[in-house]
Parts: sequence; C-alpha cells; structure tokens
Amino acid sequence: MTVNGTTRLCGLIGNPICHTMSPLIHNHLKEKLGINTIYTPFLVEKENLKTAVEGAHALNILGMNVTVPYKSSVIPFLEEIDPMADGIGAVNTLVRTQQGYKGYNTDMTGLCRAMQAEGIRLDGEEIIILGAGGAARAVAYMCLFYKASKIYLLNRTLSKANEVAQELNLKFERQAIFPLGLDEYGNIPVKKYLVIQATSIGLHPHQKQCVIHDSAFYELAHTGYDLIYNPEITQFMKKIEGAGGVSYNGLGMLLFQAVDAFELWNEVEVSDEVAMETYEVLKNEIKKV
Ligand code: NDP
Repeated sequence: MTVNGTTRLCGLIGNPICHTMSPLIHNHLKEKLGINTIYTPFLVEKENLKTAVEGAHALNILGMNVTVPYKSSVIPFLEEIDPMADGIGAVNTLVRTQQGYKGYNTDMTGLCRAMQAEGIRLDGEEIIILGAGGAARAVAYMCLFYKASKIYLLNRTLSKANEVAQELNLKFERQAIFPLGLDEYGNIPVKKYLVIQATSIGLHPHQKQCVIHDSAFYELAHTGYDLIYNPEITQFMKKIEGAGGVSYNGLGMLLFQAVDAFELWNEVEVSDEVAMETYEVLKNEIKKV
C-alpha cells in the first residue's frame, strides 16, 4: 500500500525492541484489510517515556503498543485506563482519544481469545499457574476476571507467590489463589486441571529446560498452555502430551494481543480466516529465528 496524505502511524515503544514480531503481524493485517496505516518500532530511553507518549499524541499517532520495560511505568502518562488493565497494573496497548491515550492490556484479552479459539474455558475452572512474575500475575488476574473458581500458583520463590495471592485474593474479595512452592504440587488435590506455564524456563536457547521435571506433576493436567512460543514445542508441552494432555504454545497469545490492538485502533473486526493466515505467517517467520 502506498504512503500518502491520509496514512496513519502506529508503533511500539520499548527497550530493547529489535527482536519484535509486532511489525510483521500489524503490517500483514493492514495489507489484508486494506487499511492505510504503517506500524513501526520506536526505541525509547527511560527518561524519555513521558515525552514519547505526549509527542506521539501531538504527532497524531493512532495507537501504540508498549513492551518491556514500560508496561507499568507508562500508566501515569495515560489519559484513561481500561478496568482490566488497571487491575493488572500493566498496559501494552495505547488507543488515541481526544486528550491523550487510553491504556489496555491486550496481552490478557489476547490470551483469553487464543484460549477460546482452542475451546479452553476459564469460567468455573480450577487452574494451576507456574510462575509469579509479571506474566503469571497478569494471567492469574485475567483468570479470576473471567471467573476461574480456584488457582494454585506455584513459584520457585514462594514469597512472590504469596504476595500475588494476597493481593489478588484481596482485590477479588475471595480466597481464590493458593500459593505453593514449585516442589509442593503434591499438596494439590488429584484431579485434572488447566495448567498455564508462565515462567521463563524453556525459552530459546534454553529449550532443554523444564520448570518441573517430575512426570507425576503432569498427570494433573488435561490441558497445558505454555506462554513461551520459541521453541514451537517446549519441554513443558512434551511432558503434558506425554501424560495424555493437550498442549499449546504462546504463539496464539502473541497473535491475538496484536489482533485485539489492531481492532481497537482501526475499529474493525479481524475475521478468523485472516487471523489464522497471519498465524501461519508468524509461525514461519519464527522458525527462521
Ligand atoms: P519475569 O521475569 O517477570 O518472571 C519470571 C518467572 O520465571 C518467575 O516466576 C521466576 O521465578 C521464574 N523463573 C525464572 N528462572 C527460574 C528458574 N531457574 N527456576 C524456576 N523458576 C524460574 O518474566 P515474565 O513474567 O515477564 O515472563 C514469563 C514468560 O512469559 C517469558 O518466558 C515470556 O517470554 C512469556 N511471555 C509470553 C508472551 C506471549 O505473547 N506469548 C507475553 C508475555 C510473556 P522466581 O520468582 O523464583 O524468580
């Protein structure tokens, strides 16, 4: 598509940003939908974050994604924040309004949409989450937001799992999260759970690593969802499948966080067909990394 007088700009702010797959997804989507925008990464230094957000608005930039390390620190510079993003305390998508930007967390709406596409439900579910870092905390919030009944949150550093559990149990006004150490899964009642892998263990180039080695743990899973998408099949996923469960990687989450942002910026709906086609483009590109 040719750049002309009506082309709008979208972008990504973060540091570092050179490995991002977002331009690939967004530029593919706009070509498919015939939308006159361009998506480009912006490397922003910490001390320039406020100026970058204000400058983007002054330049009539339509929307921005926000990545590490600014997902929380950008919040004070926003005009408005969506309730789920506010509860999570992190945004990854800024949508232009008259006065400034409104922040959303499409990482989590995207994860939810990716799960729904696979027929995975959260409502009334008992879930095991591995990890208590930024992603795990957001996933726990999202699961409770969509009415999961109970969460066992397992982390190497138990104090961090305790902190997340205390904070979210208070926020949702019920004892929904039960914190445990990584080696305490024997305390979880024996039945089948959705297990979400939200630690950084197993990420390329450390793909031989796995957060829990004992095969007995994986007997607890009917479904395993790894937030990691590189490698395509992680050790966690292999162990889930080995114990008879179904497993997914985090590529769907990556895709749908972008699709949700794209829809918010352009006020369009991306069809399942276009989403799946974009997924294939993304999958092929990641294989080259
Ligand atoms: P954080 O650094 O905030 O958290 C890391 C987590 O991994 C902590 O729970 C940490 O435990 C655990 N961990 C790290 N090293 C070890 C180890 N050696 N043994 C046991 N546990 C360990 O990272 P994030 O929460 O931001 O990200 C987590 C993962 O989610 C990453 O792999 C990231 O790629 C993925 N992700 C995927 C997305 C997608 O679009 N698919 C989007 C966002 C994230 P401890 O507290 O004890 O240190």
